Amino acid sequence: MKLSDEQFEFLLDVQMFIEWCALEHNLKITGGELYRTQYQQNHYFATGRSKVEHSYHQDRLAIDLNFFDGSGKQLNTKETMRFLGVYWESLNPFNVWGGNYRNFFDGNHFERAIWSTSKKNQEREYE
Ligand SMILES: [Zn+2]
Repeated sequence: MKLSDEQFEFLLDVQMFIEWCALEHNLKITGGELYRTQYQQNHYFATGRSKVEHSYHQDRLAIDLNFFDGSGKQLNTKETMRFLGVYWESLNPFNVWGGNYRNFFDGNHFERAIWSTSKKNQEREYE
């Protein structure tokens, strides 16, 4: 499988996810970061904004999204965002919600964790 095919399938999931949030849950969604350079990642890692030296953002396989309810209040806790993560992770076995990270909460982050060692038995080859 080509990495660009995975990137495309990831974006199709993002599209489905955004539509589901907007149409089924009446949420307003705004976009955050998708692609991130190594320079940006180094800066985030050095300043504690990221806990990893390589992010799926660098592979164009992660996106940060912001969610607002009907009253304009931003969803920003694990309790209010959990249903988003459950749906995101149901779309593909490699999808991971940043709200489920062990070491810190990143509820606005949605990724396709294709290099994950915990999903090794499903590992695929990339060209
Ligand atoms: Zn992110």
